[in-house]
Amino acid sequence: MLTRSALIYLSRQEGLKNFAARFALFKKLTTRFIAGETIDEAIAAIREINSKGCSASFDHLNEGVQSVAGTEAEVTEYLSVLAKIDETGINSNVSIKLTQFGLEIDPELTYRNARRIVEEGARRGNFVRIDMEGSTVTQATIDIFRRLRSEFGLNEVGIVLQSYLYRTEKDAREMLKIPARIRLCKGAYDEPAEVAYPEKKDVDANYVRVMRLLLSSGTYHGIATHDPKMIDATIDFAQREGIAKNAFEFQMLYGIRRDLQEQLARDGWGMRVYVPYGKHWYPYFMRRLAERPANIWFVLKNFLKG
Ligand SMILES: Cc1cc2nc3c(=O)[nH]c(=O)nc-3n(C[C@H](O)[C@H](O)[C@H](O)COP(=O)(O)OP(=O)(O)OC[C@H]3O[C@@H](n4cnc5c(N)ncnc54)[C@H](O)[C@@H]3O)c2cc1C
Repeated sequence: MLTRSALIYLSRQEGLKNFAARFALFKKLTTRFIAGETIDEAIAAIREINSKGCSASFDHLNEGVQSVAGTEAEVTEYLSVLAKIDETGINSNVSIKLTQFGLEIDPELTYRNARRIVEEGARRGNFVRIDMEGSTVTQATIDIFRRLRSEFGLNEVGIVLQSYLYRTEKDAREMLKIPARIRLCKGAYDEPAEVAYPEKKDVDANYVRVMRLLLSSGTYHGIATHDPKMIDATIDFAQREGIAKNAFEFQMLYGIRRDLQEQLARDGWGMRVYVPYGKHWYPYFMRRLAERPANIWFVLKNFLKG
């Protein structure tokens, strides 16, 4: 747990990021989790994913953007992504982070920026998922999502909830009343015990509880996890309740458990792969290391070999 907190702490250190980015080897190691630096590299990755029977979600890596010009560049990037999805005919939607669009500067600016993406996605018949970040911005993220959802359709904008937060079951019940499309994940940030379950077993139990709520709701949700126990619990529940295979989808991250991604798709379950790309890979990469101690050894071993 200490290692996880330490890595998540390091993920926020700008200086280290610049240091790490100078090492070609470090960058090479990121290719396991990151599809490349450009839209075209991400498209090539998505074509491959689509060929295995999985859909995708683009994620242009960036978060905590601190200038208005920086947020404008993110909007431009996502408008290009939406156009490229149509041009190439790949099967993908997009995922955005609100701190990428200015949530740490001005919520009103963030809303206007996110609205431009959702409006363009809707015009093109596509779907925009708003990722969930750290607990300091949970409420602000939900507020902006609700505002967007009041203007756009169920299949145009959706949100993410994290099972490690105590508040999530209540949030899920509220969201289902709207209704809203939810991606359920465990949560990737370092949260204090005042807001989040410190023990993995409680995070997992809450995951199963909220998963059952979502699957029973009749709305199309995303069950995002690589954990075979969560996946088995979901399949068991769906089979027991007679919930169709196409009534929800599983979601996993690029480069993690590809075997399981392909197996689930072969078995006829919906499977979407989240595909991050871009130059600002450092915080995302560090969170992936934090999730699994074995990843650190993998990186160190290659570092020493290099
Ligand atoms: C599609 C998708 C979108 C997500 N969006 C968000 C979001 O918006 N906000 C947010 O806070 N979090 C998000 N996450 C991350 C999520 O919260 C977890 O941090 C992450 O998925 C790890 O949890 P797990 O459910 O896989 O279970 P865990 O219990 O962490 O892992 C179960 C097993 O999965 C495998 N595994 C998990 N992580 C890794 C890894 N990094 N490298 C190698 N193997 C691994 C291992 O075999 C591990 O034993 C997202 C995850 C997915 C799949």
